[in-house]
Amino acid sequence: MSALSVRARIERRGVDLDLDLADGEVLAVLGPNGAGKSTLLSLIAGLVRPDHGTVMLGDATLTDTAAGVFVPPHARGVALLSQRPLLFPHLSAAANVAFAPRSRGTGRAASRVLARQWLQAVDAEDLARRRPARLSGGQAQRVAIARALAAEPRLLLLDEPMSALDVTAAPVVRRLLRTVLREQSRTAVIVTHDLLDALALADRVAIVDAGRIVESGTVRSVLTSPRSAFGARIAGVDLLAGTMAATGSLETPWGTTVSGIEEPGGDLHPGAAAVALFRPAAVAVHLEPPHASPRNALPVTIAEMEVHGTTVRVRGAENPDGSAGLAADVTAAAVADLDLAPGRQVYFVVKTQEVELHPALPAPAG
Ligand code: ADP
Ligand code: MG
Repeated sequence: MSALSVRARIERRGVDLDLDLADGEVLAVLGPNGAGKSTLLSLIAGLVRPDHGTVMLGDATLTDTAAGVFVPPHARGVALLSQRPLLFPHLSAAANVAFAPRSRGTGRAASRVLARQWLQAVDAEDLARRRPARLSGGQAQRVAIARALAAEPRLLLLDEPMSALDVTAAPVVRRLLRTVLREQSRTAVIVTHDLLDALALADRVAIVDAGRIVESGTVRSVLTSPRSAFGARIAGVDLLAGTMAATGSLETPWGTTVSGIEEPGGDLHPGAAAVALFRPAAVAVHLEPPHASPRNALPVTIAEMEVHGTTVRVRGAENPDGSAGLAADVTAAAVADLDLAPGRQVYFVVKTQEVELHPALPAPAG
């Protein structure tokens, strides 16, 4: 049985989300701004009601629009930690943490003991008597984590918990979350824009784009073999989406043909929706299309160039379907030899055996 199951639609926010999470699993949710990541957490936490749908936690129904069920946020067994720690300003750190057990009916003295334990767990014992105004961002976030845990939630929701922290505080909080999430085998959903968080904290990644979960899988599979434009961007690989024209050959909606190696057992029959993936390092830049097959020569207008260590990343203009332009990693010498510059028309040349063809994800239901 899944620990968490969400099927929910909110018309006015343009979201239609479908998600399952197993017990003890940590899911990282990534995606562009405005995609619906915070809305997903709000739906689970009971801060918004869907137009249609259900939210189940274990065998408890938290939201069911058809049955008229809506459990209020405080009774859900879910703790939500947001970007900015929302601590009560008039209470000390210890009293903030003790608030959670207190509101569950635990006695004053016992709550104080629990608060001390949780502050200890986040390495913030020495902050117990301070008011939030006298805490740094990282300290306040640690106290907020202690408070979230003191509520003994069945599910922990974290909305970009590191994004408001400075560069020294973020790694401390990340390490702490790693301990909390991994070693205590908690079930959690963490929204982040940072791939490091996904790598350090999560078992699985889901990518939300335009209100839909467009891709989900293990952190490894999404990074090595992404199927969505956003997944490809964070994984740093080139992706072209299209349909299979023939065996080993994909055609984009704008008529570019790419040949590659099909995923074994991938069922890439002609007409099937598919993606072509290749690494920017596998791309050579030419001024004229080479005659030698088996190579792909993709016409590209250079949009920008960036130096990364000893290579130069040449980025093509956005594709006609609006997806991110292709990237090629070439040497500085090649840039000089070919006189590459933004605005130039070139060919990105990539060998057939460097291109992987995979089935596209099925279109989201609904
Ligand atoms: P993300 O967290 O991925 O950046 P959000 O979940 O905040 O995205 O937003 C998803 C969509 O819902 C956006 O179109 C946004 O404008 C809209 N939205 C977010 N919060 C509210 C709100 N409180 N009321 C109405 N619409 C909202
Ligand atoms: Mg958000």
